Amino acid sequence: MTDRPHIAILGAGPVGLDAAIAAAAGGHSFTVYEVGSQVADNVRSWGHVQVFTPWSMNVSPRMRAALAAHGSEPPKGEECPTGAELVEKVFEPVAALPEIAPHLRLGHRVLEVGREGLLKNEEIGTGRRSNRPFRLLLRTDAGERIESADIVLDCTGTYHNPNALGSGGIRAPGEADAEEWIIRRIPNFEAPKLNADSPGWAGQRILLVGAGHSAQTAAMDLEALLARVPSTRVVWAIRSEAPTFGAIENDGLPARASLVAHATRLAGSDSPFDVRLGRSVEALRPSPDGIVATLGTPAGKLEEVTVDWILSLTGSVGDARIYRQLQVHECYATSGPMNLAAALLSASSADCLTQVSPGADTLKNPEPGFFIVGSKSYGRNTTFLLRVGWEQVDQVFSLIRDAIAPAGTLS
Ligand SMILES: Cc1cc2nc3c(=O)[nH]c(=O)nc-3n(C[C@H](O)[C@H](O)[C@H](O)COP(=O)(O)OP(=O)(O)OC[C@H]3O[C@@H](n4cnc5c(N)ncnc54)[C@H](O)[C@@H]3O)c2cc1C
Repeated sequence: MTDRPHIAILGAGPVGLDAAIAAAAGGHSFTVYEVGSQVADNVRSWGHVQVFTPWSMNVSPRMRAALAAHGSEPPKGEECPTGAELVEKVFEPVAALPEIAPHLRLGHRVLEVGREGLLKNEEIGTGRRSNRPFRLLLRTDAGERIESADIVLDCTGTYHNPNALGSGGIRAPGEADAEEWIIRRIPNFEAPKLNADSPGWAGQRILLVGAGHSAQTAAMDLEALLARVPSTRVVWAIRSEAPTFGAIENDGLPARASLVAHATRLAGSDSPFDVRLGRSVEALRPSPDGIVATLGTPAGKLEEVTVDWILSLTGSVGDARIYRQLQVHECYATSGPMNLAAALLSASSADCLTQVSPGADTLKNPEPGFFIVGSKSYGRNTTFLLRVGWEQVDQVFSLIRDAIAPAGTLS
């Protein structure tokens, strides 16, 4: 153990950046590792999307104070920004702060984290694991290397790990070979091209799979594309026969309520799409005419649709391989860390707006000094809001403060 614990923050998304400010404010030595070439890689990927929470909830008090100390003031109030506005007005300025920028390592993918000299099954509950530093296996363009840390905050989110398309959450036969036809992010349909070789979205045949907020957003944008270019064809395959789209009675977030209402209309009888309810993706195969998806119907029959692109918006879950060699107890239902998952499952409200972080203890893992924070901490639970992430950062740093003995070492 070094004189002063060094903190590794994995991921420079909104929550990783908030944690970086907390680390700097607490006088800690810290490093932030980000796989993207810029911070907030995930938020950038859906920069054209308007979020459903207002500025007041999307900028943490810590970010606001840190930016104010350098004479900059992010927007306030009840307007809902786009992802790109959040990046430009908040996350990039935070990353450029003199107390943060020197600690950022962009283009650094954290592959795995282990304990020096200890396997997962050793020193169970003895407290001795905290005497050994964490070893971080990193990959950059220059190759792989190891760095160490005394405390690790895994803020890597979920978006690099999208769920499979196939029925039951496993890949459909043929899915692995069909990746070039599958888009797993909310596209910007205004963009002229999908990729260098593609003709763009206009006039294409698209199979949209999923019914969560991301799929709902894509459906809304596809409706606009269809209005502009009527030759575009959209098949919307939804697993449920009677989707509710996560509607919340008297939703306190008007933008979310209106997204749900819009999606409900788009899946209804007047839809401009070919809506298929109760469908599962059973198989995929390329054909000379495009990619053929075999869909299972509620009656147990199979039907085929041939399209140019499949838009797979079936959710995502954090990458557990990062902490495979650490003592992390995952919930069998959500894949989130157990204590937090149990607290979330027993919470009475499904409305994320009314949620608060259930408390510092729920963020502890059997592995001392290892914390999963941000959207990854929710596993498959989709109700995470940034506001909860800010609270989690408060709580983790209060645990860190409590664990540091007066001499500056971890107790
Ligand atoms: C379309 C959309 C709309 C949303 N709207 C809202 C909203 O209105 N309000 C709200 O509160 N929340 C919203 N969310 C949910 C959530 O708040 C966001 O997903 C938010 O980005 C989560 O922040 P995060 O920091 O936990 O994770 P992320 O934003 O995913 O950041 C994780 C970072 O870690 C990096 N990373 C990943 N793996 C590695 C690795 N192995 N090594 C190094 N770096 C890595 C990523 O590149 C990324 O920069 C929305 C989500 C989506 C997708």
